[in-house]
Amino acid sequence: MYPCNECLENNWKFKYNNGFITAICQNCGNYIEFKAKKKKKLAVGVICKCGQAVLTQKELKFNKKKLKRLYYYTHCYYCRACRKHFYSDEFKIVNKDYRINLPRLF
Ligand SMILES: [Zn+2]
Ligand SMILES: [Zn+2]
Repeated sequence: MYPCNECLENNWKFKYNNGFITAICQNCGNYIEFKAKKKKKLAVGVICKCGQAVLTQKELKFNKKKLKRLYYYTHCYYCRACRKHFYSDEFKIVNKDYRINLPRLF
């Protein structure tokens, strides 16, 4: 957050209300309102950022190479219109034995 444009203090108090944030300067009472950045939840049927199609779920092929990574995804969301893949933590598998696969340093 930047300093208040009235008094140049950086002493805000924030109020959250229906997707909007009101920042009130505690020094002079000046306030500004702005839209809260809301991360769009990924789900099947949600309209893609491109606005041309809804997301579908896509299964990602498993191969053993994936076990050598820190983590991998079993599925992802996919947009047929812009062909973008969206990865979500709900499909994330963290490889617990990842360290075993690290190259030896000594
Ligand atoms: Zn102020
Ligand atoms: Zn798209």
